[in-house]
Amino acid sequence: MALAAPSPQAVLRRKRDGHALAASELQGFIAGIADGRLSDGQLGAFAMAVCLRGMDRDETVALTLAMRDSGRRLDWRAAGITGPVLDKHSTGGVGDCTSLLVAPLLAACGAHVPMISGRGLGHTGGTLDKLEAIPGYRATLSPDALVAAVREAGLAIVGASAELAPADRRLYAVRDVTATVDAIPLITASILSKKLAAGLDALVLDVKCGNGASLPEPAQALALARELVEVANAAGLSTQALVTDMSQPLAPAAGNALEVRVALACLRGETVAPRLVELSLHLAATALWQGGLAPDLDAAYAQAQATLASGAAAERFSRMVAVLGGPVDLLEAPDRHFPPAPCIASLGAPADGWLAGFDTRALGEAVVDLGGGRRQPDDRIDARVGLDAILPLGTRVRSGQPLLRVHAADEGALAATLERLRTAVTIQPQAPAPSPLVIERIGAGVASA
Ligand code: URA
Repeated sequence: MALAAPSPQAVLRRKRDGHALAASELQGFIAGIADGRLSDGQLGAFAMAVCLRGMDRDETVALTLAMRDSGRRLDWRAAGITGPVLDKHSTGGVGDCTSLLVAPLLAACGAHVPMISGRGLGHTGGTLDKLEAIPGYRATLSPDALVAAVREAGLAIVGASAELAPADRRLYAVRDVTATVDAIPLITASILSKKLAAGLDALVLDVKCGNGASLPEPAQALALARELVEVANAAGLSTQALVTDMSQPLAPAAGNALEVRVALACLRGETVAPRLVELSLHLAATALWQGGLAPDLDAAYAQAQATLASGAAAERFSRMVAVLGGPVDLLEAPDRHFPPAPCIASLGAPADGWLAGFDTRALGEAVVDLGGGRRQPDDRIDARVGLDAILPLGTRVRSGQPLLRVHAADEGALAATLERLRTAVTIQPQAPAPSPLVIERIGAGVASA
């Protein structure tokens, strides 16, 4: 006679007492989240028990797979797509618009890219909010419409459908209000369950550290990167991670339309954002190698570089925007589609010297408070506002020289932002030591497709 499944209370008690849960216990619990049998109270107790007691590798893999299986899984082979299906995921930062370059680069190199992205979280920007700055862009697609868009354009950057990993959607909402967001097993299962449900062949992760990252300490970022790579590979998804610097905005802009404009300029071949382009090329190269589209990392980097220079990535981006309802001339005529903010002014350097530090989190918070992010889930975003012309660290400046520009909806917001940002920049008499953009690579390339 088969044993009865343990009750949710029994599973919670075992985790509370520090035991490792069996895969069957986790499958039953997660199924109860997805079908609504479990209450939010039980979800909160589970998240807190995991936060306090942790999970071993086998448990985290089992949790990830159970969350993947809580909804639909995309099947690209059944949809007739034979090339590798690749994606990139970032843990988030300020001025991080690599998705807008990496996805079209991969598609232009022969991959298919269903990039399921999120909205801004805390002080970090969200790819979906950036894309919704484009008039007409449809970021919410059913799984079938996502498959159709990827078939037509080679890529689609969209929001998560309620049909993929629905247990994560419920658990995430409870974590958000129970101080249990930053537990490594829960973050790992949350990110990877959606990537596994998307049916990828290979994934590259950009795990940020530094004062603009959600996990600022390099040791924390490294621990998360290792866990993500090991759990993803154990769950059958070929994955590498780059741990990268977020101690200054990645692009010279932070804010939704302002970042899209920078990404469009990079796609057109303008040299306006060298750090953004360099990291995008590293991430794209890693995914191309990982997905078997290049024999080694050097060849993959050269391929990504040539693809950007040729305009093929720009053409892919334009195709995606048109397929998803945006304007066909966005790349050539951005001024026609992005109205400027009413009030714009520069923050001047307080003294001669070298730009040696940003409080990057404070820059991200300033963008949120200008209206470029949300304080409450249903706040409306003002896509026009934010920062641009941000100088890179290590720039020699003269007193009064503009360090960045603020774009605001009114004079009051402009003055308040300029005032608060005065303490978010450090000018010193000597040049600062340069900080590497890619700090560590985790995981070896495994051609999978
Ligand atoms: N992004 C996710 O999707 N889940 C997390 O838990 C954190 C970041």
